[in-house]
Amino acid sequence: MRQLIAGNWKMHGLAADAAALAEALRDGVGGIGCELLVCPPFTRIEPVARILAGSPVAVGGQDCHPETEGAHTGDISPTMLADAGASWVILGHSERRQNHGETDELVRNKVLAATAAGLTPIVCVGETDEQRMGGRETEVVGWQLEGSLPKPFTGAIAYEPVWAIGTGRTCADSDVTTMHAFIREEMERQFGEAGRGVRILYGGSVRPANAAALLALPEVGGALVGGASLKAAEFLAIARAGK
Ligand code: PEP
Repeated sequence: MRQLIAGNWKMHGLAADAAALAEALRDGVGGIGCELLVCPPFTRIEPVARILAGSPVAVGGQDCHPETEGAHTGDISPTMLADAGASWVILGHSERRQNHGETDELVRNKVLAATAAGLTPIVCVGETDEQRMGGRETEVVGWQLEGSLPKPFTGAIAYEPVWAIGTGRTCADSDVTTMHAFIREEMERQFGEAGRGVRILYGGSVRPANAAALLALPEVGGALVGGASLKAAEFLAIARAGK
C-alpha cells in the first residue's frame, strides 16, 4: 500500500492563505508517488476542495460530531464534512483529547459516524511525556486503541507522541519502530487479517530533514504533519520522501 502523507492545518488558514497553499500543492505534486491529504479548518474545506478537485490531493476534516444532525451548537457533522468535499477526517487528535476532554468512547462514536458518512477516519493515539518517562507508553496506546476503535474498523491510525507534537522533538527511530510494531500486533489481535492492512502513520515534528528516515522505518505507513504542512515546499518535500 502507498504511504499517506497527511497535513493537519489546525486553526490556521484565512481565505487567501488557504487558497494560496492549496494552489501551490495542486501545482507542485507532479512526480509524487504517495497518497496526499490536507485537513484545513472547517471554514476552508469547501474552497480548498474546489481548488484541489481533479488533483491527487484529498481533503479532510480535523474533527466531527458523532451525530448526523441535531441541536449541537457549533458542531459539524461528518455528513456536513462529506458535503463540503472531505473524504477523510482526523479523530481523537491529542489537542482534542486534551483541550476538549475527548474520551476513547467519544472518539469511537465519532469513528462510527464518520464511517457511516463515507469518510475514512485517521484515529490518533499517543502517550504524554510523563507516561513515557514512567515506561507506560505501550500500555497507554494499547488502551487508546482498544477504546477508540469500533469493530470492524476501516481507516488509519496515527501514532503521535504528545510530547513530539509541535515541539521539534521527534521520537527516536528505535522508539517509533517499537511502537509501530506494537500497534501492528494490536491491529492483528483486534481485527485479525484485516488488521494487517491498517495504515499506521507517524506524527510529531515531521520535517523535510527527518522525513526520509522516519518514512523508511518498518510499519510506518505515512506521516501526519502539523507545522510543516503549512508551507507547500516543506509539505511537498516530505511527500517526496514517501513511497
Ligand atoms: C499534529 O498536529 O498532528 C502534528 C504532528 O504536529 P507537528 O507536525 O507540528 O508536530
